Amino acid sequence: MLFTVSVLVQLPAHSPLAGPLSYSCTQPLEPGTLVRVPLGRRETLGVVWDVPAPHGDATLRPVASVLEGIAPLNAAWRQLVAFAADYYQRALGEVALAALPPQLRELDAAQWQRKLSRKSRKAEAAVPAEAPMPAPTTEQAQALAQMRSADGPFLLFGSTGSGKTEVYLRAVQDALAADPQAQALVMVPEINLTPQLEDRFVARFAPLFGRAALVSMHSGMTPAQRLAAWLAAHTGSARIVLGTRMAVFASMPGLRLVVVDEEHDPSYKQQEGARYSARDLAVYRGRLEGRHSGQACRVLLGSATPSLESWHHSRPADEGGKYLRLAMPSRVGAGRLPAVRLVDMGLQPRNTQLAPQLLAAIGERIARGEQAMLLLNRRGYAPVLACGSCDWKSACPHCSAYRVFHKIDRSLRCHHCGFAERVPRACPECGDVDLAPVGRGTERLEEHLSQLFDGIQRPGAEGEDRRVRVLRIDADSTRHKGALEEQLAQVHAGAVDVLVGTQMIAKGHDFRRITLVAAVNPDGALFSSDFRAPERLFSLLMQAAGRAGRDAAHGGASEMWVQTAHPQHALFAALRRHDYPAFAAGQLAERLQAAMPPFSFQALVRADARTQQAAHAFLTQASAAAADLPGADQVVLYPAVPTAVQRVANVERAQLLVESASRRALQQFLAAWQAVLHATRRAEGIEGVLRWAIDVDPLMV
Ligand code: ADP
Ligand code: ZN
Ligand code: ZN
Repeated sequence: MLFTVSVLVQLPAHSPLAGPLSYSCTQPLEPGTLVRVPLGRRETLGVVWDVPAPHGDATLRPVASVLEGIAPLNAAWRQLVAFAADYYQRALGEVALAALPPQLRELDAAQWQRKLSRKSRKAEAAVPAEAPMPAPTTEQAQALAQMRSADGPFLLFGSTGSGKTEVYLRAVQDALAADPQAQALVMVPEINLTPQLEDRFVARFAPLFGRAALVSMHSGMTPAQRLAAWLAAHTGSARIVLGTRMAVFASMPGLRLVVVDEEHDPSYKQQEGARYSARDLAVYRGRLEGRHSGQACRVLLGSATPSLESWHHSRPADEGGKYLRLAMPSRVGAGRLPAVRLVDMGLQPRNTQLAPQLLAAIGERIARGEQAMLLLNRRGYAPVLACGSCDWKSACPHCSAYRVFHKIDRSLRCHHCGFAERVPRACPECGDVDLAPVGRGTERLEEHLSQLFDGIQRPGAEGEDRRVRVLRIDADSTRHKGALEEQLAQVHAGAVDVLVGTQMIAKGHDFRRITLVAAVNPDGALFSSDFRAPERLFSLLMQAAGRAGRDAAHGGASEMWVQTAHPQHALFAALRRHDYPAFAAGQLAERLQAAMPPFSFQALVRADARTQQAAHAFLTQASAAAADLPGADQVVLYPAVPTAVQRVANVERAQLLVESASRRALQQFLAAWQAVLHATRRAEGIEGVLRWAIDVDPLMV
């Protein structure tokens, strides 16, 4: 007997065949079954999508093989994929196949069988000794009790150091204890930035369930590791998956809890392909899993500075809130939040890098054997190198941006396209040798501090090297594998007095000896054209402040310093009081007035082209052809504009914002507009458009 099966495969982007393809098969394969099917001249991995039809069509090509020994992907998973494809306006096959580990796509049936048999022979890893479990604080106990008495979703709004991780650990334990098949998914923004979190989960759960019950999922793993982790989750042998945004698509048949740590973090938004928000999908997935299994799958979002979207969703239910807010305002133990000191840079001589009072404060910390952390969100030595005689600047020949001067290897490097050259000896325009750095980055700050503290001794034993130790941590210093871990270990061990770095150092780390944190030059974000820039800055500064005074032994008088030319700004007033709710209220009032998210819904169409005119013509024409589409009457299409950096690697980029007060209308419109965009690209007079993509709920506009 012959059946017709529809199979999802990965097709080239913008292929006109967007849906599943039909194949014939001699058995009625269940939806979700993994198969290999012929596609053109090659064979590729596919997922059986619908229930096979019993009337086979002999003209169809047959399914080549079935990946035996692996259960079909369940209905909740398939529905999550279908929703994501639909909502983010991408092909179903693309989303489904991208959600599977890459190695699965490469193995043929025979290799697959060998893999499975190898896997079952694998020995159990060593189990660490049971870690002590602290008794929950009153606030933690209260949050957990609320979680038990409701289905959520929950927003855990907890100060830095309030013990959110302990709540995650307990919530996972609750979920897993309730049912031997239960699984929990814990998502973090960037796993290598939070090795401590992984350690805490291993310490807590390996003794209970075995080391193999915990797996990680992130892009730093080898293909083989990723496949093994995926299989462990899919078969249920992994009870806990700890992963980055990609883990939201992990196949977990027993999923009962999803935790999204630092839910405000922009890295939850995928920035290429299907531009999904893993945080938003997590909330959706929780509902889906609950509906399919009949048991609650709780979703817990956590942050000290929630995204304004999540904060707004967690307003009281009688005002329309959909999430339950769990508040933990206090720090665990005696650790207090640092006092915030604003330095008015308007009162300092021009080009002051570090105000004298800040320097004095850093010096005092060092003299007491404490650590200081300086945050500067710009790597390299200086963002521009300029000629003193003519107006030559270190522009990138391929981008509308300057190349950054890196003094360490005397290079000019474009941070957009990667183009790098050695610093010229003389000005390429006029030959003058007087080339000077303009502005400052982390390398320059590091150098400046080393010079300032040269000859100053820190406390220490006789005969010890007592020079002040300055360490820089940024994307450049951590390029090599293991470098970040090694540098963080130095900070934790107290082998560093002053830590300089980009936002990498502001996130999540449980530094115990840092008592002073300073934001050296945060003003750029105050007047950015991106309406989310203040939100990101506030959260970064609160996170950074959260690194100080985490240990009561050192934290008696910890401080957060901010150098700014705008000390009166409302953002800093809220920061001073560690008052996220006040900051959020101010921002939400502005957003309401301007009808911006979360009070409206947005999408961007981004176009890359050979010329800016081509990108504009494409967007403008597609926009003109959209007037009669369904939903168009409730949607506003803005004019096409060049992106902030409009040329990257010789490609011109433009974008067009689409906005609506109704999410449904926007969705309806975008779905219909897809065909118009495809047609416009092929239309007469439109040339040189390289690619285009829709970004739903864009983060950077
Ligand atoms: P957050 O994630 O909210 O910043 P953490 O979970 O890292 O905070 O907790 C801060 C510190 O407090 C950690 O060192 C943690 O071990 C400790 N801690 C958390 N909960 C408790 C508790 N109930 N009793 C004692 N110490 C705790
Ligand atoms: Zn010159
Ligand atoms: Zn460039």
